Amino acid sequence: AMYDDKHRISRDDIVVGRILGEGFFGEVHDGVYKSPSGERTRVAIKTCKDCSAEVKGKFLSEAELMKNLDHPHIVRLIGVIEVDPVWIVMELYEYGELGNYLVEQQYILSTAKLTQYCLQICKALAYLERLNMVHRDIAIRNILVASVECVKLGDFGLSRYIDEQEYYKASVSRLPIKWMAPESINFRRFTSASDVWMFGVCVWEIFSLAQQPFYWLENGQVINQLESGVRLHKPQRCPTTIYGLLTRCWAYEPHSRPTFGELVSSFSEIHKMELEQETD
Ligand code: ATP
Repeated sequence: AMYDDKHRISRDDIVVGRILGEGFFGEVHDGVYKSPSGERTRVAIKTCKDCSAEVKGKFLSEAELMKNLDHPHIVRLIGVIEVDPVWIVMELYEYGELGNYLVEQQYILSTAKLTQYCLQICKALAYLERLNMVHRDIAIRNILVASVECVKLGDFGLSRYIDEQEYYKASVSRLPIKWMAPESINFRRFTSASDVWMFGVCVWEIFSLAQQPFYWLENGQVINQLESGVRLHKPQRCPTTIYGLLTRCWAYEPHSRPTFGELVSSFSEIHKMELEQETD
């Protein structure tokens, strides 16, 4: 790992609190971090349960990627403690996972608000697209709610830079089939264009208020459906303008899909129109 002063933190500056949930590698706790300047921040602390050298490398690889990211709609890494017990310390987002939030707040959230969340995630992904980074796991389970006005994309556990190879050939089998583009299912091919497909599925989840995509199918049936042209239907709360964009995100050919740059413009315009309609 590169020498990195910014993310070097001391365990003495952290007070660990209650368990927030179970992560892939171990428990996630809340807590408070006191920075060298004396400022206190609420944090989420990821721990690693059976942390052999190999597991530790995988656990820390997510943090390594996050060290280079700085975006208002991406989960912020505060620091890493690399000596046992290894901790990854992130900014805490009190409202938790977007899926639960959508279910709890469904009668309060306007269409404009749901569109705003989509736009924010789209901006985060346009930022990653510019960095040649693929996320590979875009789903509401990986989005956290910081406030009513702000959501954050997290979980870079499957993310990769695609700098030289043009695409990343996946080897892991822990893959979210129902969110994946056909070329990802068939050939394990992941690009910014396959992230665009997944983003479309994630927007579908948001407007269906956290229903599971293709819940009526087994994983093994999904690719046949996609290849015979079947796509997710328009959720009741989804504006037709947005559903039009989703069908383009789900073009079978990766190069026929819009880029995140284009999607940011489209979602911005739709969001603006919805705000105007709300105040009519
Ligand atoms: P998986 O790979 O299975 O998704 P993970 O290791 O990525 O697991 P998370 O899902 O990110 O772990 O975290 C586990 C739990 O901790 C989740 O319920 C999530 O809501 C909570 N959590 C994680 N990070 C934060 C955070 N920054 N703020 C608030 N809650 C968080």
